[in-house]
Amino acid sequence: MKNRVWRLKSRPTGEATLDNFSWAKEDLRSLNEGEVLIANRYISLDPTHRIWMSDMDQYMPPLEIGETIRSLGIGEVIESRSQHFKPGDWVETMTGWQDYCIHSEGDLQLLPVWDVPKSAFLSVLGLTGLTAYFGLFKVAAPKPGETIVVSGARGAVGTIVGQLAKIHGLTVLGIAGSEQKVQELKEIYHFDQALNYKSPQFPSEFKRLTPQGVDVYFDNVGGEISDVVWDRMNLFGRVSLCGMIATYNSPEPARGPKNFAAVLMKRLTVRGFILFDFVEAFPKARSELYRLVAEGKIKYQDDIVEGLENAPSALNKLFTGANTGKLMIKV
Ligand code: NAP
Repeated sequence: MKNRVWRLKSRPTGEATLDNFSWAKEDLRSLNEGEVLIANRYISLDPTHRIWMSDMDQYMPPLEIGETIRSLGIGEVIESRSQHFKPGDWVETMTGWQDYCIHSEGDLQLLPVWDVPKSAFLSVLGLTGLTAYFGLFKVAAPKPGETIVVSGARGAVGTIVGQLAKIHGLTVLGIAGSEQKVQELKEIYHFDQALNYKSPQFPSEFKRLTPQGVDVYFDNVGGEISDVVWDRMNLFGRVSLCGMIATYNSPEPARGPKNFAAVLMKRLTVRGFILFDFVEAFPKARSELYRLVAEGKIKYQDDIVEGLENAPSALNKLFTGANTGKLMIKV
């Protein structure tokens, strides 16, 4: 059987381009005892791909030149030499950007049989929903009545953070990159307020809309937007640092906020996290998210691009803001 594979050809400078990837058709090897062959169905495209493609200091080893592009994904077991998995089972694993993957049984997570589109296991019930859940509840420790600001608010993580925070009794202000996104945050996702950071009035409007200051900042973006938010942090405020997408394409190391002194003056707690820090608590959080989705309390959107061949070009939607939800490839 032939397997189409995307590999890292060279490290990007700035935005990743097609030249940074190589595309091959390779023979699949046969299975060893305890291994499973999976037909990949949905492959996750994430801002962190740009981090993995660089050789900056990071939370996992960078991709090596020639390595299959790493990614989380979900797929169907089509052949098994494991007692625990059978053909037809849907599993979650590090699929990589390829048609098929072979894994040991210990590297696979069986997906629950729930009444949702399978793609939801990569978004609201998977990578991005769980990131929102843990980054909010375990890292930011929000209290009802507080004010939270979410950057990257109309994205896959951001929309879930805002909705969870509303359910928890917070006042929610979202920051996003277009007037349409601002409108959607208020009308579809029921954020209390939303602002377009590309508007020249953004800093003054942000100040006007936060008369009570900011207790929690869920930061997906970093860079200049964070400078504006940090200026409004309240005493004993918390910053949950989830991502810094504004800096991933930059050749320079990411800088911290201009007003770092606020950590001292306002006694802020600033904590970065990586989703995998909470892996043991995934099943419970996933069930809770499923309940909220099933009850109609959380809305989500998946941006599904058809065709493995389109993965490299689709990736840049995350950096132009063109994605309309959790970005993924339908293989
Ligand atoms: P996403 O928000 O669905 O898509 C990325 C969005 O980022 C774009 O739609 C764009 O929206 C915004 N953006 C791109 N470049 C920007 C810039 N220069 N300045 C401001 N905004 C910019 O992606 P996601 O998967 O939900 O990820 C969101 C963040 O969470 C990323 O930083 C990612 O690295 C992080 N993350 C962290 C973890 C973790 O374990 N810590 C896990 C998953 C994701 P606009 O139109 O609003 O600009």
